[in-house]
Amino acid sequence: MVELSEPFLELNGITKRFGNFVAVDDVNLEITEGEFFTLVGPSGSGKTTMIRMLVGMDAPSDGEMRLQGRVMNDLPANKRPTCMVFQSLALFPHKSVGENIEFSMKITGKDKVKRRARVDQLMEQLRLPLSYYEKSVTQCSGGERQRIALARALAFDPQILFFDEPLSALDFRLRKALEKELKDIHRETGKTFVYITHSLEEAMVMSDRIAIMREGRIVQIGTPHEIYNNPKNKFVAQFMGEVNTLSVEKAGENTLRVTGFDDIFTVTDDLSDFTTGFLIIRPEVMKIGRSAADMKNKIKGIAFNDYALGSRVQYQIRIEHFDEPWLVERLQDEPYEGQRGDTVDIGWRPEDSILVSN
Ligand code: ATP
Repeated sequence: MVELSEPFLELNGITKRFGNFVAVDDVNLEITEGEFFTLVGPSGSGKTTMIRMLVGMDAPSDGEMRLQGRVMNDLPANKRPTCMVFQSLALFPHKSVGENIEFSMKITGKDKVKRRARVDQLMEQLRLPLSYYEKSVTQCSGGERQRIALARALAFDPQILFFDEPLSALDFRLRKALEKELKDIHRETGKTFVYITHSLEEAMVMSDRIAIMREGRIVQIGTPHEIYNNPKNKFVAQFMGEVNTLSVEKAGENTLRVTGFDDIFTVTDDLSDFTTGFLIIRPEVMKIGRSAADMKNKIKGIAFNDYALGSRVQYQIRIEHFDEPWLVERLQDEPYEGQRGDTVDIGWRPEDSILVSN
């Protein structure tokens, strides 16, 4: 975790229009030197458009981008102290691993011996065997190519590295391993990383801070911990994964009524300024069966389905007047004692729900 101090990269009112369509809408952002900052959003939310402007592949329609205080709007891509690692990695297929990595140094005319020393250093840092120098990149695995692309980007000695979903094409296990590796490399290099992904889960593992984008706007910026514990609205809460979502209105000083129904639930939030919103309850805080018996917030339903989710089991509970099934998760070695088809209590503690605006 880095100390947040002076802004390194500053965006003021950044907007990108394509004809009448606004792809990025008045984005204001400050990124600190050495930070691992991730832009997350669903498909079409404007992440790629943002990063294209940041690396100089596109110009903003409005707004100002400053790097260390200097406006860089009109600086062409090849003059920016930034480098991009693409989803496709864009390695030169006919060149060896070493030639790919030293590409930028060759262009800038760096002497051969120094070049080789730097390539060796980068290969070591990225845990690539030095014997790979001569190996063709076409003979490397997905994970190795990822590291070669990163070594090539680091060889530019950029001030900021931008990443456009570099892990999205990889299989699950490799992706998980590389997420951690990327975080380690970030720490070791001390560089500023700006990463884009549609996976909040991926962002949570690696980032110091996350900005959540929706329809060209940033809806929330915070540390993974802040976003997880205090999602700003229903969109952010639901973007984090499967959750139970209830449309609610204020009923009493610390109680909410499910909109249009008689169910009343207790919360610990201050409701003095609240009228309507959404109550979010994560499946893993929900109790089922005997363990739900003493819960302050309780409701009855039919356990009609269950799914193994690795270390946990998810139960789906049908409750008559709710369209969506309720989700409850238990650890696999502490399964719910009942049977599929049973009528069962489910419940949660007031302090375990999250109240958000629309
Ligand atoms: P994905 O995760 O699918 O890559 P994204 O968040 O990166 O999505 P963008 O590629 O930035 O989204 O696109 C944002 C919006 O801008 C989309 O609706 C897209 O269709 C639109 N858009 C992007 N580039 C152009 C363009 N050159 N001309 C017109 N519209 C564009």
